[in-house]
Amino acid sequence: MNGQVQELLIRLSREHALRLEEYQTLIDGFSPEAAAFAQQAALRLRKQIYGEDIFIRGLIEISNICRNDCLYCGIRRSNAHCSRYRLQPEEILTCTDEGYALGFRTFVLQGGEDPFYTDAILTSLIREIRQRHPDCAITLSLGERGMSSFRRLREAGADRYLLRHETADPAHYHLLHPPECSFEHRMQCLSDLKQIGYQVGCGFMTGSPYQTSANLARDLKFIELFHPDMCGIGPFIPHHDTPFAAFPAGSVPLTCYLLSLVRLIVPTVLLPATTALGTLAPNGQELGILSGANVVMPNLSPVSVRNKYMLYDNKRSTGVDSAEHLEMLRERMRTIGYRIITDRGDVRSAPDSLCPGADN
Ligand code: SAM
Repeated sequence: MNGQVQELLIRLSREHALRLEEYQTLIDGFSPEAAAFAQQAALRLRKQIYGEDIFIRGLIEISNICRNDCLYCGIRRSNAHCSRYRLQPEEILTCTDEGYALGFRTFVLQGGEDPFYTDAILTSLIREIRQRHPDCAITLSLGERGMSSFRRLREAGADRYLLRHETADPAHYHLLHPPECSFEHRMQCLSDLKQIGYQVGCGFMTGSPYQTSANLARDLKFIELFHPDMCGIGPFIPHHDTPFAAFPAGSVPLTCYLLSLVRLIVPTVLLPATTALGTLAPNGQELGILSGANVVMPNLSPVSVRNKYMLYDNKRSTGVDSAEHLEMLRERMRTIGYRIITDRGDVRSAPDSLCPGADN
């Protein structure tokens, strides 16, 4: 490994911040040795805060109907071959009840930007989940909404919101989205969510079309400055019915390196080993955990709709339909030295020794 990369990784693990051009040096200096070094530093930090604990989130994909037309996404509105579905509130409640019985204490309601889910429908659904399962966290991932809508959903009982920034470079953002999508609005949503008091998640795809190392450096700088509670990072995977069908998928090793770097930047971050990572490599989620991730999000959606939420080709169904499936997941984590716990899985605070300036 190049000496400068090693020096930057050591500094990043102590100070959790670098200059933009230094992040780019880290990306350009990616090598198996650099990744192994970053991984060890990330695992040390994660262990000090989270020990061997892995949090599970029950993912419920509530609708694949979307008013957006993101060029990379299989459920974009222009995809006429996508067979559309929408779960009714009662069906979502059945999923949360089943998930609760299995041991899930966080539910993630994710979907396309489906106009059916008005504030009235969502607030009554959130209140009902909260009433049935007061010890659970409710995470929403329903795309961009207005400040007043975000506020109503928070007041109804939603705790967290995942909204990947997708790329922190405006020019790159416009290469990935149709003209009506606004980079500024996406960023505004993220700052509104934080201001309202959500635990907020941002994130991006690795290897998205036209992505450069300079783009990735900006993503890392943005994460450093935004300091998210959660961060979703997964490889881009093409979908055959999108304009990006012919682009290659992102790389598993680079995604793992980025997971380690994000752990070094925000040591307390809740970092999922994503389904996309598990789709590209059979042991992708284990690799993610071993790079610094500490969250897995098995699918609790009804089996009948699971293969309709096809964001990309061959999306793996990491569903947990039964206690046996969950036990298999527990065993997979145990095999690599980690344990799934039954917990809301909130951000834990870092020991003082991890704060910049402390003598560690
Ligand atoms: N509509 C919500 C939103 O915009 O945040 C949530 C659903 S959206 C489908 C969830 C995430 O899927 C996106 O933020 C994007 O990063 C990821 N995604 C979409 N298409 C993908 C692809 N082809 N490969 C990998 N990830 C993809």
